[in-house]
Amino acid sequence: MNTANAHLPVPFADLHAQYLSIQPQIDAAIAEVIRTSAFIRGPFVERFEQEFAAAMGAAHCVSCANGTDSLYIAMRALGVKPGDEVIAPAHSWISTTETITQAGAKVVFCDTDRDTFTMDPAHLAALVTPRTVGVVPVHLYGQPADMDAIMAVARRHALWVLEDCAQSHMARYRGRLVGTFGDAASFSFYPGKNLGAMGDAGALTTSDPALAERMAMIARHGGLRKGDHQIEGINSRLDGLQAAVLSVKLPHLPAWTKRRQEIAEEYNRRLADAPGLTLPALAGGREHVYHLYAVRHEQRDALARHLGALGIQTVINYPVALPFLPAYRRLGHTSADFPNAFHNQSRVLSLPIFPEMTPQHMAAVIQGIASFDADKPA
Ligand SMILES: *Cc1c(COP(=O)(O)O)cnc(C)c1O
Repeated sequence: MNTANAHLPVPFADLHAQYLSIQPQIDAAIAEVIRTSAFIRGPFVERFEQEFAAAMGAAHCVSCANGTDSLYIAMRALGVKPGDEVIAPAHSWISTTETITQAGAKVVFCDTDRDTFTMDPAHLAALVTPRTVGVVPVHLYGQPADMDAIMAVARRHALWVLEDCAQSHMARYRGRLVGTFGDAASFSFYPGKNLGAMGDAGALTTSDPALAERMAMIARHGGLRKGDHQIEGINSRLDGLQAAVLSVKLPHLPAWTKRRQEIAEEYNRRLADAPGLTLPALAGGREHVYHLYAVRHEQRDALARHLGALGIQTVINYPVALPFLPAYRRLGHTSADFPNAFHNQSRVLSLPIFPEMTPQHMAAVIQGIASFDADKPA
């Protein structure tokens, strides 16, 4: 018998388990949207926008079709134009930077801190030019970026700040919710995110009413009333079904976040002595919400294959840092330009973490890592 089959398989995440835990409420919410045909805009969307703004400590929420659109919409509303430069971290999901280009500006990459994976404020300060208009810090994996240092650079140079909170719903920096530091914050409700819809969905939050109105306009064909198009916009809508699902899930987010943190703490304890493994570093004053639990290992690919053979799913977030992707070859960057992002891209590995994870799942992952012999070819 193949001993690998004796292990409990561990999925990277289990969206169905989450659905089962709240099935009656979800089913009822979906049925109500169908009964009232409130598919586009309407009461479910308006209700979720109000609830989400309140939960994120913002005065306004503008919902849209997905997290990527929210970044694009915000940058257009912030007035990005050709010739402008926008600084974003070198190690993130491509949404963060493809939308800078779409909005018409030039992407300027900033190296990440080697241990927290978030924007390095010292490098940020060195990248500012007279053409720089804004910064897009990413609270990557769920750990807040160093917002005091980033905001200090932004204030010194009068730059706008758009926080990419796609992985960091309810994370806190020095006790304050992420998304409340910059001019606006972008959220994704992609199904696997800490707050996930049952399809694509996204939102922006801000405390600036004029910015909120411009963002809403851009998301809705450039006008807030039918037939009244002040500018050319796009069609990017949160639909009623997704809004109703998100309203059911939002009250559970604090408890789900707490579960993620407990699982991370247990990983931290039980993996502390695993040879060759570097655990996620938590910088002072940050509350991490562990969208991802990203470890590092010199034999990352062999470790991932070993765990995969045991039925334990892992993911690499992200195997090629943004400046080294074909999409950014035009910028002509080399590994020496972003030494930390380059170092981390070949070492990071995200272990399974989701609120419904059982003690048996945890034990299987921990045993799987303990049985990895880095010297033996996998
Ligand atoms: C998921 C994600 C996005 C975009 O979200 P979508 O809803 O998938 O468009 C943006 N930035 C980061 C860092 C993300 O992880």
